[in-house]
Parts: sequence; structure tokens; C-alpha cells
Amino acid sequence: MSSRLEQLCIEKGLRMTGQRRVIAQVLSDSKDHPDVELVYKRAADLDDTISISTVYRTVRMFEENGILERHDFGDGRARYEEVSDEHHDHLINVETGQVIEFTNADIEELQRVIAEKLGFELIDHRLELYGRPIKGREKDIPDGSTEAVVNINQTSLKHKDV
Ligand SMILES: [Zn+2]
Repeated sequence: MSSRLEQLCIEKGLRMTGQRRVIAQVLSDSKDHPDVELVYKRAADLDDTISISTVYRTVRMFEENGILERHDFGDGRARYEEVSDEHHDHLINVETGQVIEFTNADIEELQRVIAEKLGFELIDHRLELYGRPIKGREKDIPDGSTEAVVNINQTSLKHKDV
């Protein structure tokens, strides 16, 4: 069975070798925004002929073709995730490195309005929040995954003292 990422590669006309297929599979299955080293570890578990330089080259190729998104979550390591149709933002736990994905309609709207006021049509944005967990308030949120995007739309900016 081919992964979603592999399907995207095929749509883009990329030639899929066995190794590329394994790397695509690993990236499709990873919901935690792995860096290249982690992708390499996971890929090598499935196919020990894969080298880290192959992973670097393949990841770059996927990125250049717009099927992989690169992030920098402040630790100097490039992290990757499959491009998805559904937009989400990220909150990074600076103590553990956990990445929580969320969406918020107010933020989306606010950003659109700001761009418009500056004379622009908003076509994209990136938002990263960096935080430390508040003792006793930790929520049981799974590691970043597109199936587990936390929807915090009920949090209305209007009712906050900002
Ligand atoms: Zn994400």
C-alpha cells in the first residue's frame, strides 16, 4: 500500500525508487514533526541500505516539490511534516519539545484583517507559540498530528483582557 506522500510524489511526476518510497512512508506515518536524523532512524529500521545522505537529498526534493513543509521550532533543527490541506498552527512546549497543533478561527480572521489593512490579500502565514506548561494545568494533548489538531475556537479574543 502506498502512503499519501507517495501518491503526492507520483502526482508531481517524481520517480519513486524503493528507498524514496520507504522515506515517504516514514514521513507519512510520522505525526511528530521529525528532523532528518529521526527520519533516517525510522527509515533505516525499515531498510538498512538507506543512508542519511539519501534521507537528506530525498527530504529536500520533497520539500522543493511542495509536498513536505519545513519548520524551525527554535532549536536550530529543521523539522518536517507532510503538507496538508487543513491549515494549523503550532505551540511548542519549550521544556519537552512537544509540538501541539491547533486551529483558532479568531486568529485566522485577525491575520486576514491585518494583511488587508496593510493592503494585502493574505495567502499564507505561520504562527508558532512557545510556552512552558503551567503546573497543574497540563492537558492530555497527543503529540502533534493532523488527526489531533486541537480546535480552540471557543476561545474568543473578545472576552480576554488584551
Ligand atoms: Zn504541524
